Amino acid sequence: MPYLMKDDPQVARIIQDEESRVENTLNLIAAENHAPRSVLEAQGSIFSLKAAEGFPGNRFHAGCRHADALESLAVSRAKDLYGADHANVQPHSGVSANLAVYFSVLDVGERILSMKLSHGGHLSHGDAASMTSRCFNFQHYGLNLKTEQIDYDELENLAKAFEPRMIVAGASSYPRLIDYERVAEIAQSVSALLLVDMAHIAGLVAARVIPSPVPHADFVTFTTYKTLRAGRGGIILCKQKYADRINRSIFPGGQGTPSLNLIAAKAVCFHLALADDFVQLQKDTLINASCFAAEFERLGYRMVSGGTENHLVLIDLRSKGLTGALAEETLESVGIIVNRNVIPADPERPEVSSGIRIGSPAITTRGMLEPEVRQIARMMDSAMSNIENAQILKQVAREVQDLCKQFPIKK
Ligand SMILES: *Cc1c(COP(=O)(O)O)cnc(C)c1O
Repeated sequence: MPYLMKDDPQVARIIQDEESRVENTLNLIAAENHAPRSVLEAQGSIFSLKAAEGFPGNRFHAGCRHADALESLAVSRAKDLYGADHANVQPHSGVSANLAVYFSVLDVGERILSMKLSHGGHLSHGDAASMTSRCFNFQHYGLNLKTEQIDYDELENLAKAFEPRMIVAGASSYPRLIDYERVAEIAQSVSALLLVDMAHIAGLVAARVIPSPVPHADFVTFTTYKTLRAGRGGIILCKQKYADRINRSIFPGGQGTPSLNLIAAKAVCFHLALADDFVQLQKDTLINASCFAAEFERLGYRMVSGGTENHLVLIDLRSKGLTGALAEETLESVGIIVNRNVIPADPERPEVSSGIRIGSPAITTRGMLEPEVRQIARMMDSAMSNIENAQILKQVAREVQDLCKQFPIKK
């Protein structure tokens, strides 16, 4: 970063510190990943500067020849990768993508049925703290508290009683697959549209290692920086008949000029996602998550829902006498980055929580496999069981450093 060093050494230093933090810690945040350097190069490219309101072939600024080529390529790659009729690659984020879908086909105040945040849903699915809840009339379905999996019968009953105009499926901390066929059937039976928000699992779906919602849903949204590892941003896929409404909802509806640099990164990622090594990466991501669940169970922890079918596990820490907040803080002190997470019917406040959410994407991208996963689980157990033993914590921190050195982040 020679120019940044010269113009603003203070910011340059903070960026270098962050690079070093990422290299020297184990990232188990289920919503994050390491992106290939090529994706970051595209994000930092000259396209950051181009104003290009509109869509390829129909812009409100001149000089868009290359912008058009880039966006058209990204759109056609997105459609091919996911087998979608239409793709809009302009959303700045997952939340922007969801807002655009709601406003494309619904009037303010109309009814939407979605999963509740405290059971694994997302803020932008109508949580009281999100402005989405002030624009639309949301009701929420949840988990069966015995199985800790989606209660499809409850979902059906709520749909019949509430008669929503849209049903939203998709979650942020749900370790199970979602039965899209069943949800689509329920949506059809009450004439509701179906939006699937596959933010977390878009990479797994792209590699076809878990079922795709695309054939079953009217709209599919996702963020690009999670399992997909395409850097920041959002995408909307939809059936052809909604293509114009979705485009207008993004521009001029809810956004101005698109971030063409992010679109460049998305295009790169869609290209890389077709390669065999990406498919293998996503397979290993699933295997590693299952391995985490098995190993933590062996160490005496309870897995919410009894295990995992995707890239994350949710661990109930109550039997260990720990809160999520204390576990998160202790693990960060030894270089292991996780986030505290509410578990279903959590007795603690969300800021404290009784669980932690662990994701396998980033360590799998570093090349770690089952032996390393077992080692990490043991290190975590060691730290969480000895939160006041400075000597043991120091030992674990050293082991974390060694493992990071052994598996440098690939460029
Ligand atoms: C992460 C996530 C989002 C939000 O994406 P941003 O890019 O942070 O706006 C939306 N929906 C779900 C289900 C998510 O997990």
